[in-house]
Parts: sequence; structure tokens; C-alpha cells
Amino acid sequence: HAKGEGRNTCRFFDPKMQQHTAQRFALQHEIREAMQQQQFTLFYQPQVDHTGAVIGAEALIRWFHPERGLVSPMEFIPIAEESGLILPLGNWIVEEACHQLVRWSKNPATKAWVVSINVSARQFQQQQFVAKLLSTLQHTGADPRYLRLELTESMLVQNQQDIIAKMDELKNIGITFSLDDFGTGYSSLAYLKRLPISELKIDKSFVNDVLINSNDAAIARMIISLARSMELNVIAEGVETGEQRDWLKAHGCLHYQGYYFGKPVAADELDISDSSAT
Ligand code: C2E
Ligand code: MG
Ligand code: MG
Ligand code: MG
Repeated sequence: HAKGEGRNTCRFFDPKMQQHTAQRFALQHEIREAMQQQQFTLFYQPQVDHTGAVIGAEALIRWFHPERGLVSPMEFIPIAEESGLILPLGNWIVEEACHQLVRWSKNPATKAWVVSINVSARQFQQQQFVAKLLSTLQHTGADPRYLRLELTESMLVQNQQDIIAKMDELKNIGITFSLDDFGTGYSSLAYLKRLPISELKIDKSFVNDVLINSNDAAIARMIISLARSMELNVIAEGVETGEQRDWLKAHGCLHYQGYYFGKPVAADELDISDSSAT
């Protein structure tokens, strides 16, 4: 049987691949429906400083599928990207996060919070990205100084001039940029220097084993010292224990995000008490 299967799968149309493609189409269709039926929601994960005070939150999309339950963004963001659905979905994410920012701006305990939004490559590359964002800020009334866009290294290697021009335009109105998953991508230091970013975000893969793997510890130290010498902020993602936080703090990383401080939750489930002192 194994032999026969082997022969059959060695065709132009690999059945596995076909199923994969069919699944992708089905998923695309479902994403479109899910947008209409409002099955998407934004969760927020707190970001804290070295005193434990909340300084902001990262918006993370969640899909509550009526049959399949919670679907991970790792599963549908790539499909949304390749199909172009990330454009309407991305617009919705920005709009929703801006509305939340306005709500937080009205509460003394949360008015200084910065909201970080993940922006995908195709979304940022679209011609209308800046204009669209400006109009969303305008009609929601969100203050751009409290908006941060998370980009990844890999999306910044092509069309550098165009990217930097867009970033500069947004930076001029007060928006800041963070390089997400830093250390996992490929970016030359010469290029990094030219980007108008304000923050490096240490990828959680390094944070995870920082206490037990000397290579991960070396990379984390390198990122922290790079941030310091380039006068950038540095934040660690995926902090799950007090020991990891202590290590990061001892090595000069003063901002953190991770399950240790709080999982991503609906906006009304965030504990805002920690930041009420500021
Ligand atoms: P990311 O931007 O690097 O987000 C961090 C991921 O790590 C999130 O997964 C978060 O829930 C998870 N995380 C946070 N703290 C911990 C921790 O202590 N331990 C562990 N093991 N994980 C932690 P999530 O929400 O599943 O999102 C996965 C990825 O999907 C994100 O990675 C981002 O690349 C993408 N994504 C999520 N929301 C959006 C969105 O609104 N727009 C776009 N374009 N991409 C998004
Ligand atoms: Mg992120
Ligand atoms: Mg990340
Ligand atoms: Mg990551």
C-alpha cells in the first residue's frame, strides 16, 4: 500500500497540497464572513515598567469562530495577508484600537497608556496606509502620540526609501514604532540606524530560555546594549516568570510584556489598578 500511495502522491496535483489549497480558500471565505458577522475582537496584553506599573498594551486580534472556537491569529493572519483580506481587516484593527485609545484617554488611570498595534507587511505597503490611518485618527479622535505600530524586520528590507518616508510622515504626527520579534529576522545594523523607530522588542524565544541557555542570554544582552547605544527603548515579550523579569532588569531591560504580568484579555478585563498611581 505504501508503494501505491507513493506513486499516487508523486503527481502534479499532490492531494495533500490540494487539500491545503481548498482549506485556504475555505478559510478566506470564512474570514470575509467573520468580518461581516463581527466574530473578530481585539484583546489587550499589558506592558509594564520596572516598577510593575502598566504603561500600555498590545492589541492582539482574536477570532471567535462559531464552530471551531478560538482561532489563533497565527492561523488566519497569513491567509488574510496572502488573500489581501488583511487590508479591510487591518483597517478594522486600527479603527478598533483607536476607539479603545479614546476610551483609555478619558480615565486618569489609563490616559498615559500607549496602545501597540501589529501591522502586517502588505497592510503597511499599501499606498493608502498613511492617509487611511490619518483619517481614522481624525474621526475617532485618538491621539497619535499614544499610538505605536509594531513592524517586523523582515517587512522592512524591501522598498526601504518608501518605508522610511511613510514612517517619517507618521513619526511627525507623534506615532512611534517598535521592531517586533527583534533578533529573529534579518536586518543590517546600518539599515536599522536609518529607521525612525523608538523601540526594540526582544523576541519571546530569547526571553523564554534566557536563564538556561547562554546563547539566548547573549542575544538578549546584545539587543539591550544595542538599544542603549542607539538610544532606543527596549521591551521584552514573553516574560513568564519573576526570575526572567529579574534577569532582564539586572541587564538593563526595564519594560516587559508576558503572561507573568497578564495574558491578553478583553479591554474590560484588564486590571488598571497598577497604573493608578501615575
Ligand atoms: P506578536 O506580535 O509577537 O505577539 C506576541 C504573541 O505572544 C501573542 O500571541 C501573545 O499572546 C503571545 N504571548 C504574550 N505573552 C506571552 C508569554 O508570556 N508566553 C508565551 N508563550 N506567549 C506569549 P498571539 O496573540 O497568538 O499572536 C501571534 C502573532 O499573530 C503576533 O505575534 C502577531 O505577529 C500576529 N498578530 C496578532 N494580532 C495581530 C493583529 O491585530 N494584526 C496583525 N497584523 N498581526 C497580529
Ligand atoms: Mg507584536
Ligand atoms: Mg512579538
Ligand atoms: Mg513573536
